[in-house]
Amino acid sequence: MLLLPATMFHLLLVARSGPARLLGPPPYLPEPKALWSPRALLLWLTWLGLQVALYLLPARKVAEGQELKDKSRLCYPINGFQALVLTALLVGLGVSAGLPLGALPEMLLPLAFMATLTAFIFSLLLYLKALIAPASALAPGGNSGNPIYDFFLGRELNPRICSFDFKYFCELRPGLIGWVLINLALLLQEAELRGSPSLAMCLVNGFQLLYVGDALWHEEAVLTTMDITHDGFGFMLAFGDLAWVPFTYSLQAQFLLYHPQPLELPMASVICLINAVGYYIFRGANSQKNSFRKNPSDPKVAGLETISTATGRQLLVSGWWGMVRHPNYLGDLIMALAWSLPCGMSHLLPYFYLIYFTALLVHREARDEQQCLQKYGLAWQEYCRRVPYRIMPYIY
Ligand code: NDP
Repeated sequence: MLLLPATMFHLLLVARSGPARLLGPPPYLPEPKALWSPRALLLWLTWLGLQVALYLLPARKVAEGQELKDKSRLCYPINGFQALVLTALLVGLGVSAGLPLGALPEMLLPLAFMATLTAFIFSLLLYLKALIAPASALAPGGNSGNPIYDFFLGRELNPRICSFDFKYFCELRPGLIGWVLINLALLLQEAELRGSPSLAMCLVNGFQLLYVGDALWHEEAVLTTMDITHDGFGFMLAFGDLAWVPFTYSLQAQFLLYHPQPLELPMASVICLINAVGYYIFRGANSQKNSFRKNPSDPKVAGLETISTATGRQLLVSGWWGMVRHPNYLGDLIMALAWSLPCGMSHLLPYFYLIYFTALLVHREARDEQQCLQKYGLAWQEYCRRVPYRIMPYIY
């Protein structure tokens, strides 16, 4: 809980320093007045308020989540993409009316501080709220009795006030949309400084916008992910969603603003191809599982080979899920590589995301395997025998 915010501030400070050394000490330690700014607080609260308001707008669809312990299902508004588009329109209007979006990069430090503070306070409130939640509302993890561990992991699975679902709201909106907004601000500031945005900055912005737009377009798919179905809502997800994602995932664009990198068209084309391959695998795998879980007799997936399990659910054993046991992670990692390559090879810093994300997905994969083994027993063992590689064919 201390190391994650410290790492995030380290990255923010190092990205703007001349040597930009990931493994070196931070160039300086910020004074309290560099972190605390009433302007940043106001901006942060306005941002959260705007995203809450957009969440509450009528949705094109209301989807049901997975069945809960008490056999009920929760309803979720599917309007994340609409929130992205409306945010883009509002920001566009603001910029044309003189909103200095290019000044945002100068406020990243205090904004990250506000987000961190919010994550701590919010997690504490969530922890207290879980004390009065019924046992059926608690997550499988995060209820060990050790308050620090439970505060970190999150006690309640789906904390809500009326129909407002805190975890679902935080998962894809303030952080993900904030990430692409920070990227855009960095691009605008680069254009102001150097006359036009660099090709490298355009690629990073384009790739990451595609990723965020895709996540919000397929928002319903988040309802079958581990974060929603298994993990409680505590510091891990609150800090991850609100602070870590917008302020560290924009690291490549931050790096490029302070360390411009030449990028020739042929190399840019190769990087685009790598991103396209990653996206193709990532989207293909996620959509295939999602269609299969929603309706196994959907013509798109009905021809795939499956293994039956004692729970009545089936496991895919051909198609993307017959290649490795987590093809979606493979695609995600290939895209992560494509996001770092425009930053050149002179620094390790822009590759932080790739390194961190590999560690995250390897750990996440191990957690998922454990849960699937518990859930499906022998059928999972049979799946592992037939599909021996976890993420990377013939390597891992
Ligand atoms: P997955 O979407 O991979 O879901 C795992 C679940 O899928 C398993 O628990 C199991 O659940 C089901 N499953 C596993 N194997 C099979 C199979 N052969 N056939 C059918 N169902 C199967 O997990 P995540 O939630 O971790 O990831 C979702 C996406 O989000 C991924 O693309 C990941 O890369 C991305 N992600 C991105 C992050 C980021 O920071 N950028 C962070 C974390 C994830 P069940 O059987 O119960 O359906």
